[in-house]
Amino acid sequence: MRVSVLIPLPLTGPYDYLVPEGMALTRGDFVAAPLMSRQVIGVVWQVHEQNTPPEGLDPAKLKKLIDRLDVPPLNDELMAFVDWVASYTMTPPGAVLRLVMRSTSALEPPRMQIAYVLSGTPPPRMTKARQRVLDILRDNLPRTAAELAQEAGTSSAVVKGLAQAGALSPVDRPVDRPFPTPDPAFGGVELSPAQAAAAQRLIEAVDARQFSTVLLDGVPGSGKTETYFEAVAAALKQGKQALILLPEIALTVQFLDRFADRFGCRPAAWHSDLTSKERRRTWRAVAQGKVPVLVGARSALFLPFPDLGLIVVDEEHDPAFKQEEGVIYHARDMAVVRGSLGHFPVVLSTATPSLETVVNVAQGRYRHVVLPERHGPANMPQIDAVDMRQDGPERGRWLSPRVIEGLRKTLQSGEQGMLFLNRRGYAPLTLCRKCGHRMKSPDSSSWLVEHRLQNRLVCHHTGFSMAKPKTCPGCGAEDSLVGCGPGVERVAEEAADLFPDATVVIMSSDTVRGPAAVERIVEDMLAGNIDLLIGTQIVAKGYHFPRLTFVGVVDADLGLSGGDLRAAERTFQLLSQVAGRAGRESRPGRVLLQTFMPEHPVMAALIAGGRDGFLAAEAAAREDYALPPFGRLASIILSSRDPHAVEATGRALAKAAPVSEGVSVLGPAPAPFALLRGRHRHRLLVKAERQINLQAYLSAWLAQVKPPNNVRLAVDIDPYSFL
Ligand code: ADP
Repeated sequence: MRVSVLIPLPLTGPYDYLVPEGMALTRGDFVAAPLMSRQVIGVVWQVHEQNTPPEGLDPAKLKKLIDRLDVPPLNDELMAFVDWVASYTMTPPGAVLRLVMRSTSALEPPRMQIAYVLSGTPPPRMTKARQRVLDILRDNLPRTAAELAQEAGTSSAVVKGLAQAGALSPVDRPVDRPFPTPDPAFGGVELSPAQAAAAQRLIEAVDARQFSTVLLDGVPGSGKTETYFEAVAAALKQGKQALILLPEIALTVQFLDRFADRFGCRPAAWHSDLTSKERRRTWRAVAQGKVPVLVGARSALFLPFPDLGLIVVDEEHDPAFKQEEGVIYHARDMAVVRGSLGHFPVVLSTATPSLETVVNVAQGRYRHVVLPERHGPANMPQIDAVDMRQDGPERGRWLSPRVIEGLRKTLQSGEQGMLFLNRRGYAPLTLCRKCGHRMKSPDSSSWLVEHRLQNRLVCHHTGFSMAKPKTCPGCGAEDSLVGCGPGVERVAEEAADLFPDATVVIMSSDTVRGPAAVERIVEDMLAGNIDLLIGTQIVAKGYHFPRLTFVGVVDADLGLSGGDLRAAERTFQLLSQVAGRAGRESRPGRVLLQTFMPEHPVMAALIAGGRDGFLAAEAAAREDYALPPFGRLASIILSSRDPHAVEATGRALAKAAPVSEGVSVLGPAPAPFALLRGRHRHRLLVKAERQINLQAYLSAWLAQVKPPNNVRLAVDIDPYSFL
């Protein structure tokens, strides 16, 4: 018998192998196979009928599989999903399979350890410690010697003594602990009529056991999370699994506890910070169908759930769902694909839907469930602009008098404030006062950002860093390098100067590393140990701080520069989210946007609460230019250490572009960060009408030009970031 095995490597497709006598295989099985001189693990992608000779292959040359692994096979839905994502993103299916196989040790036999249960024979001699150990085991749950010793407050020697005396029997138990089972009836708030009606529509979607996509649309604090928890409960009642995708792992901390309030235990979690042991435990339990609910970052979308009944994409508009390296995919869009292949609903939850989603709703592809207002007495915060042309700060300062006044009042009344600036570090640019030399990254076309807390200049694109030099590398002048513009550290310095008695804390991805550090800040905010939180976009997301009533946005215009097609949409989403942090309970919230363009449509929509009008205007503009979602885009990114090779390949590609109605090719042009980690980058942009099969066009085109070995080519379908 012959099978085709997909190997998690970027090869062209599955490889054929012979099945050794006596090895029973089905599609989806994990197998060990020889590849070159190595042994690799792959998945049986196709089982061929006996006697069908492989096309163009000499059966005598086929190698034999080595082993079948004792892991539940992948189901058809996930295999179809891998193939779908591969063909849509134009990446080899093996590269997508690698996203599924994210724990190699999970494929090994589960590790066992010795645990103990009561044998029924009492020990010849009894002590208090021995009695405590025996009492603990009355619930029939096996425990290791170490666990027993800890629970009984004694030593392992006492446990071993009991075993030797025959009072305990050893049993084998997997090292990895099972996950607790969330209880759909455990807790939960009493839903308002609007929330209950919305929850009902989500529950109906889950109970229908078929594919649908629902936009759950409500202002921050309207109870979207409480509402979609009801859909999760419905999936649990059916015995199916539910997956909740969050854009940022930092968010999971508060989320896991909220989940526990509703379901009685924390869900399983999946993100890049897991230890390899946790990764193994989680992956294996998921594959065995023993993880009823998992909360994760975008990569959780590829976990081998045997019977998913629901995916929730929370903050669906968030750009963090786009994976920009390796397999380039958008987790929200691919979640919808997994739902359609697996015949279950996908709920997209947000206060500021992406334009793509809004258009899908308008065209009837997605359902729309709305939560119109904040829960309880809370109202939406009042948002105003500070016109920086008239009411700007003093020279060399970044906070305007109105923002300072707002903060002062807030702090005086014992409430908390927040300042938002989406820029890490102290100053985004360091230059020489004497000669104007700008401190640049050595191998990238980006400025070095001063981080005063670490006393270093850092490249935010590559992570390169260096000590700030004493003398200017350009002219040799001493102490002439000065920071230009503000980052969060500089704003914090100014705030500390203005409010010396306030506790000011910075929250950005480099000052707060990992979920535990985030948890500490969240707890300090809740306990009132922080007066003023200053942060980058990581403070914008999801947090619920009841005493936070004032938000100042230091530079509301920051995201609007640059040629990104979604710049306005994203700025609106981000600033709405930031504003949504203020006044989430009974105390009213107030938001001030420092801007040089108070009349800009984004600012006007934020101030007047005109989200839908703003989105309609954005949609009309995109439609006029046939830009996504009304047309299709792909970019081809070429990179190489050799600038001439990149340019020549770009020109050759452009020349070979097939002429096709409804498709236009722009470029090649240097990418905005033309040099990144020593590699020169050029980009071609392909724009097509909506009905065109862009992948087919690209394959036909790329088949004609083979870039030289020193030029790397990557395709980005639906590009988001134009860096
Ligand atoms: P969203 O996800 O829309 O931002 P949340 O679900 O986080 O809103 O709700 C905001 C806050 O209000 C949370 O603390 C939540 O527990 C609370 N809340 C929402 N709905 C209710 C309700 N019906 N009863 C009690 N508290 C609620």
